[in-house]
This record gives sequence, C-alpha cells and structure tokens, in this order.
Amino acid sequence: MKSGVRSQGSGAGKYEAVIGLEVHAQMLTDTKIFCGCSTKFGSEPNTQTCPVCIGMPGVLPVLNRKAVEFAVRTGLALNCKISPYSRFARKNYFYPDLPKGYQISQYELPICEGGYVEIVVDGDVKKIGITRIHMEEDAGKNIHEGGGSYSFVDLNRAGVPLMEIVSEPDIRSPKEAAEYMKKLRTSLRYLGVCDGNMEQGSLRCDANVSIRPVGQKEYGIRAEVKNINSFKFVEKALEYEIKRQIKVVEEGGRVIQETRLFDSATGTTHSMRSKEEAHDYRYFPEPDLVPIKADAKWINEIKDALPELPDAKREMFVSEYGLPEYDADFLVSERSLAIWYEDAVKAGGQPKAVSNWMMVELMKLLNDENKTIEDCPVKPLQLARMLKLIDNGTISGKIAKTVFEDMYRTGKDAEIIVREKGLIQISDSSEIEKTVDEVIAKNPKEVERIKAGDEKLLGFFVGQIMKATKGKANPQMVNDLLKKKLQQ
Ligand code: ADP
Ligand code: MG
Ligand code: ZN
Repeated sequence: MKSGVRSQGSGAGKYEAVIGLEVHAQMLTDTKIFCGCSTKFGSEPNTQTCPVCIGMPGVLPVLNRKAVEFAVRTGLALNCKISPYSRFARKNYFYPDLPKGYQISQYELPICEGGYVEIVVDGDVKKIGITRIHMEEDAGKNIHEGGGSYSFVDLNRAGVPLMEIVSEPDIRSPKEAAEYMKKLRTSLRYLGVCDGNMEQGSLRCDANVSIRPVGQKEYGIRAEVKNINSFKFVEKALEYEIKRQIKVVEEGGRVIQETRLFDSATGTTHSMRSKEEAHDYRYFPEPDLVPIKADAKWINEIKDALPELPDAKREMFVSEYGLPEYDADFLVSERSLAIWYEDAVKAGGQPKAVSNWMMVELMKLLNDENKTIEDCPVKPLQLARMLKLIDNGTISGKIAKTVFEDMYRTGKDAEIIVREKGLIQISDSSEIEKTVDEVIAKNPKEVERIKAGDEKLLGFFVGQIMKATKGKANPQMVNDLLKKKLQQ
C-alpha cells in the first residue's frame, strides 16, 4: 500500500494515517432553503434577510424544492442511495450568528447514504466511500472589525442551503485527501449544484485524522481540523497534524479527541476544544417541517437529466477521440472547457489539434488576462475553421499563432484576418525557389560550411527565407528546396 506518511520524518514509517472529510458545499439555488431571500454573494450586510432567516418567533420555514433536487442530483452522481423518507432535525447551540438558537439540519434520516467517489493517486484508482449527504442551513457571519469591544453580525448567509458530504475514513494520505476534494469540486461544478468557490466559502472542509501503527485494524483517536478552505491547505493541515500526532505517540503520550483549528499563516493546527468541552446538540426532529418523501418517479427524472460526469467524459475523449490521458484530464477538469472542446471537434477540428491549441495558445491568452473559457472571445467553431486553414495549406502553423492571437483580440474569423493582412502561405514553388536562390547567393560562406557537412546551418537558411517572406513560405517546401540545393 502506498502512503504519503511513510516518508515523513522519524518514526513515520511505523504509522499510517486514517482520514475522513466532512465537506460543506453551498448549493447554487437562487433563494435560501427555508425562505425566499436571495442567496447572492457580496451584498450589503443584512439586506437579504426576512423574519424567517433572522429567527423571529411565530414564523414557519418552507422547504425549497430546488435544494432537495440538488442534494438528490449530487447523491445520484456520487453513487448514493436516495432515502425515500428523510427529515430535518434541530441542532441546538447558542452562537450570535445563529439567531434561532438552533440550526435546521438532518441527523438520523439524511437524504442520501452509502455512495462512493473514485480518485486516482499515483496512477492507481481508489474508491472513497461516502457515508451520507445531508442538507442544512448555513449560519450568518460574525465580523470582528473596528477594534472596539463589539462585533458585527451579517445574516445574509443565514439560511443559505448547504450540503454536508461526509466521507468514510477511507483516505490514507494528505495527497489522497486533496485529490478527493478536487474530485468532489469538479463533480459538483459539473452537476451545477455548487460553484466550488473556495475563497468565497462555497466549499469548505473539516478534516478528521488519526494515526495507527501499520498493520493495526482498529482506528486511532481522531482530531477534527476545522477552517480549511483550499486544496493546498487540506494537504498542509493534514501533514502537520499527522506529524504532530506521531510525535505525541513517539514521546509516550496519547492523542486526545478534540477539535483543532488550522492556521494558514503558520501552517499549524491548535486546539479549539476537547471532547469534554464538545457541544451536546440535543438533536430532535424539526417539528415545523414535514418529512420529505422523495418518490421514485421524481428521482428517476433527476437521474435521467444528470449531465455526463468528468470520468465518463475523460473515457470518451480517450476512446473516441484518441486523446492522451494527459490531454483528457486537462480538458475534463472544468465542464465548460470540455464543452468548448467538444464543440470545436464537432465543428470539424481534428481532436488532437484542437486539444493542443487549447492547452497551449488558448490557455496562455486566457491566463494572461486571468480569464476563464467562459469569457473566451474565440468561439469553438472559429478555432475549427482556423485549423482547416492550416490543414489545406492556406496558412502555416507558425503564422496561425499570430492569426489566433488576432482572433482572440478582435473576435474576427481567421479567414478575414488572413485576407486583410495578406498572410496566405506561399506554396508556389517557383516563387519560393526565387527567394531560396537569393538567400543562397547572399551567404556564400555559409553555403561552403553546410556543404562541408555543417548540418546545423540548415536552420539558418530556413530562418533567412522565412524572414524574406515574412513567415509566409510553406516551411515544408522551403526545407525540401534547401536540401536539394545545398546537400549535393
Ligand atoms: P462527528 O459527528 O463527530 O463529526 P462522524 O462519526 O460523523 O463524527 O465522523 C465524522 C468524520 O470523521 C467522517 O468523515 C469519518 O469518516 C471520520 N472519522 C471517524 N472516525 C475516524 C478516525 N478514527 N480517524 C479518522 N477519521 C475518522
Ligand atoms: Mg464533525
Ligand atoms: Zn429570509
């Protein structure tokens, strides 16, 4: 078995890490889970609130059907069983960002159970079990600014629908944890149920981790690390925590069950509360909401409408389009990228050529401006048409790069740019021969050397001819002619 822990520090080889993640994903509904308030991010504090989500007495929550649909969609995509009967529960605790004094969540009857996700680590496919997916409302946000002896509370986020996706303790290294997170994020984005924006907190993760001697079956005592909001931090927090636990055990101590907080500035974790201080949430069934009965017909409708997921797409790109795994992985990493790619191929682009242009030229232009494929000024059909101009010899591959940049800057079609700028490739052999002869006549010393066997000078001649023709000479013809004339 491979394990990232093995190679770490003294004593590391003796231990194995056991990790389970609880991932909170904000669902992409327009309105909150129990009221009609907007879920839009970044508005003025407390402008998206109503008596329901600020916890006024005497009002009743009404369940947002879309939130249930999104949870079911996710469950189906992650191979879960969808519960025909589930219900909400009250999780009681007091905190200023939770005005009701309890959070409406799910407890003993969650909407989805028993699924799995496949990840690839070091070339091996591994299944990570999903214990459950449940729905809950988000809390508000406390803001500590101004330095006074007070804090602010913004309740815009209170009542925004969340899914909590709980994994089995099947993860064995920080790297696997990061891969699992990435896989979840891609899947949620494909499904259109979460935007996966970790900086804005749409996707957050608590990591449970314990260590055990290699070969031991029983799990060790775990710590739960909170406050992780990037793939890099999942790895960092877990690496630190595993080392810390190993050190505790190696020094004769015992790991205690506790909640720890990750500090991204120092890359360390520190204790927040121990098991003894843990909350007793006094869960009980939510009396203000009726149980959810998800009937088979509705579930089947959601299933039939599931989009193709990244794994299936990757397989198709490899088997049908003959793409290398590397290309396929890149292209399926975002659904919008995969769709753009497919559109370009369907418009007649040769699959590998489209992939090359997207991975190199297109990404360079987009990255330079911090743009994503959604803002790409070039349309898939336009790339396909440009590739055709290379294929039929109208422009050379080299000229195509400047044409493509022009297309990106102006949104114009390749044909128009080529015509306007007079970039059509010279494939008339007598015209090329004339230039070849001129360049040869101008460089007698180099001709001597190449004839004496200095093959490297061929590049020099090609360069001179390209310069003379402003890059428009057909490179294959230039090469052939030069060889004929210089290497007798
Ligand atoms: P809680 O309700 O306290 O959060 P759960 O039983 O729901 O506890 O488990 C939460 C997460 O902890 C799950 O992802 C699970 O896989 C993980 N987990 C449970 N036991 C261990 C352990 N011994 N080591 C590491 N992770 C664990
Ligand atoms: Mg927990
Ligand atoms: Zn509201």
